[in-house]
Amino acid sequence: MLNQQEQKLLKIIDQNQNEIVACLQKLINYKTITPQDDDVARGDDYKNLQNYITSIIKDIGFEVDTWEVDASKLPTFPGSGVKQDRDLSNMPVVAGKLKGKGLGKSLILNGHYDVVPPGLRKNWKYDPFGGEIKDKKIFGRGSNDMKGGIAAMVQAIKFIKKAEIELAGDVIVQTVPEEEASCMGTLSCCQRGYTADAAIIPEPTGMNVLVAVRGGAYGKITVFGRAGHAELTQPHWKEGGAVNAITKAMKIIQAFEDLTKEWKARSDKQHKYLDPDKIMATVINGGEWVVTYPEKVEIEFGCQFIPATKNAINEISDAVNKVTLNDDWMKENPPKLEFHDQWWYGAEISEKEPIAQLGFEALKEIGYSPKFMGFGSLTDCIHLINYSKIPTISLGPKIKTAHMANELVSIKELVDTTKAIALSIVRWCGTENG
Ligand SMILES: [Zn+2]
Repeated sequence: MLNQQEQKLLKIIDQNQNEIVACLQKLINYKTITPQDDDVARGDDYKNLQNYITSIIKDIGFEVDTWEVDASKLPTFPGSGVKQDRDLSNMPVVAGKLKGKGLGKSLILNGHYDVVPPGLRKNWKYDPFGGEIKDKKIFGRGSNDMKGGIAAMVQAIKFIKKAEIELAGDVIVQTVPEEEASCMGTLSCCQRGYTADAAIIPEPTGMNVLVAVRGGAYGKITVFGRAGHAELTQPHWKEGGAVNAITKAMKIIQAFEDLTKEWKARSDKQHKYLDPDKIMATVINGGEWVVTYPEKVEIEFGCQFIPATKNAINEISDAVNKVTLNDDWMKENPPKLEFHDQWWYGAEISEKEPIAQLGFEALKEIGYSPKFMGFGSLTDCIHLINYSKIPTISLGPKIKTAHMANELVSIKELVDTTKAIALSIVRWCGTENG
């Protein structure tokens, strides 16, 4: 049940929807694309976006801390995903703190402002960085994942102030880069000492409460053959004959498929909210000449796993070894299996955690029938949960168009996300008046 103060707050949000929409449009205008590698030329859009956020939260009364992440100084440990040689200059992190007026619980609101590349312009009906509105939907890269969430969280705080509600506990706003590549922006916030009794990341969740994400490991396997004329009959390889690396690579790909099937059936890979572990070949390169036996095939792969899986890399290595030992050629010419240095742990909290229950109730209050859910891919919550031990949930709009052309968020869901966050803040931090 909403109390009077909460009713007033939601009414103010309804009456000022245009401000949330305008904020999101402005955020979309900044081209804050995650660099794919370190030599991508970076403009000032990252800085300008962060200056815009800073101006909003300073007006509310936040003390603001801004810094650039030096990846070489971040902690590295198994599961951290840290890539110490990545250049994160000119991509600032902003963390602002609004001191509570009493002894309430503290809350972090965290959002990533980097977005994946828009892809081909011809597949977009609207300018990917235009923030155009059509049929009560806002279009643009990041509208959904997750500049909409950032607009919702900073506007929620603004409206709490407008409603003259004095929060008892501290609120910390963090806007970070790099979620789409490494999660090092949020790890840097954690390392800098920012902590709270709970955290909310308004990533898209379909107006549900996200409590679990899978971890990820990535790597490459190089399979070797022996070159020879493709159109001549070759002797056995032991007599010097050619060997087709593509045919050998098929065995590796099959091993990945079999491993996924095995994991799917295994009891230790089952999770209440997540699919079982999975490994998939995602990039393949091989062969040299159309009439030559291919000498080499490179397969890149990605593996996602539930938080309880601590040894995905060993399990993959074992599966590759098994194939190698069962093939005379590969036994003598073993494929080279390499994992990228960085892999990311999964994360989960119990749905019984007070913040999970509170987010769930907030969504119900504004007319949704939420569910607790998991997400197959990881988010910045991994560091808040694992490194800083902060119970963290996500709630936000439908995820359907994230990373796609014509990414959108409906104005209704944007406004409702703002309401759910505003209610969550007020109820979590407590109030000193009303
Ligand atoms: Zn996201």
